[in-house]
Amino acid sequence: MEIRGKDFYDLIVVGAGPAGSMAGRKAGQLGLRTLLIEKEVFPRYKPCGGAVSERARSCLDFEIPRELQEREIFGARVHFQDKAMKEQKEYRLATLIKRSALDHYLLKRAEEKGIEVMMGKKVTHVQEKPDQVEVIAGDHVFRSQYVIIAEGSQGKLKRVIRRKASPAEQGVCMVTEIDQTQEHRKRFAQDAVDIHFGITSMGYGWIFPHRNYYSVGIGGLISKLPEPRKTMRNFLAANGFYGQYKFKSHLIPLGGIDGQLTSSRIVLAGDAAGFIDSFSGEGITYAIKSGQIAAEVIYKILSRTDGHKLLESYEFICAQKIGQELKHALFLARMVHNSPQLLANFIVRNKNILGKYLDIFANRITYKEFLYWLVPRIPSSLFNIQAWEKIEQDL
Ligand SMILES: Cc1cc2nc3c(=O)[nH]c(=O)nc-3n(C[C@H](O)[C@H](O)[C@H](O)COP(=O)(O)OP(=O)(O)OC[C@H]3O[C@@H](n4cnc5c(N)ncnc54)[C@H](O)[C@@H]3O)c2cc1C
Repeated sequence: MEIRGKDFYDLIVVGAGPAGSMAGRKAGQLGLRTLLIEKEVFPRYKPCGGAVSERARSCLDFEIPRELQEREIFGARVHFQDKAMKEQKEYRLATLIKRSALDHYLLKRAEEKGIEVMMGKKVTHVQEKPDQVEVIAGDHVFRSQYVIIAEGSQGKLKRVIRRKASPAEQGVCMVTEIDQTQEHRKRFAQDAVDIHFGITSMGYGWIFPHRNYYSVGIGGLISKLPEPRKTMRNFLAANGFYGQYKFKSHLIPLGGIDGQLTSSRIVLAGDAAGFIDSFSGEGITYAIKSGQIAAEVIYKILSRTDGHKLLESYEFICAQKIGQELKHALFLARMVHNSPQLLANFIVRNKNILGKYLDIFANRITYKEFLYWLVPRIPSSLFNIQAWEKIEQDL
């Protein structure tokens, strides 16, 4: 590796969410001289449902400590209008973890690999030069061979590579945390999540039972969710939550849409790269994966002498390992959300289909495999008029 003085790094990572921390960990493991810069001081609040799927966990090369795991999720109750279907598995689908704790823990696992971490410093500019990148944070200028921008969906640094997303390419999520009462515990399952379709187009509402609180939220396409606060209040009231709650909202990208991910020396990862499952809103899996891939690709470039053309291989690997999945998720989202009847018949009304879909989160099948399995079953599921009675018995 080239050494150019103490303030010159092989890699600077901007943002210490799951993408940035796992890029940092991988870079540290590979021996890259790495600086990770984060604008907040951890632990910090992060609006999130906190559902960490089995496939997200499978990307990690370490276990998450038990005390951080608030609830193990084995099933889902999926609601559409006044009907619902429950599907329970014998194996775990996801673990509920408070995001502030998860992100803090992931950062510690990055730091232990010998990278430098700078907290409470906002990066304001990332400027690519022919032989290096300058990263400006406050009155500091840091220099590196390569930069990974893992600033999440909200930041603007990514615009050095990618144009601003249009409203049709962006979703919005709103979330609140509500203390659990005895009465709530009787109404909601403790080892399953509640998902409510039909409250907004291209989106859903959720109730996730953490250890002492519920994460309750809604998400959907910005263009289809013009008054998220009103939709959120209605959703809360419809589920018996009548208190004065503070809402936090956040933009999320609509995953599965092609967009540039690299320039010569800069790579986007996680939400900054648009890596979110448009059907479920899951993003932690792709943040971890893309952060790791980005660090690996940069390591390979630095280990060779033939320059930085290899950054293109990041786009290629992401297309294979992430893009395909996100495109299939987007296809499913468009297919079922454009027709509430299809949504009802596919996901809510048919236990087999719901069960198979949940296997994606259990890391047992991919979206592609799910769709190949689903398509031949579409005609029969559309005419499965016995299903509603079955649903009511199931709950
Ligand atoms: C309400 C809501 C609920 C969600 N629920 C789930 C869920 O249950 N399960 C799931 O898998 N996904 C969920 N997601 C998606 C998930 O939160 C994201 O996909 C994930 O956080 C992406 O990780 P990331 O590392 O790319 O970005 P982030 O987690 O957003 O991290 C980016 C980091 O960069 C820092 N940063 C930003 N700008 C700068 C800067 N200029 N300088 C320095 N630091 C900077 C930020 O402070 C932040 O710490 C949810 C999203 C929302 C909005």
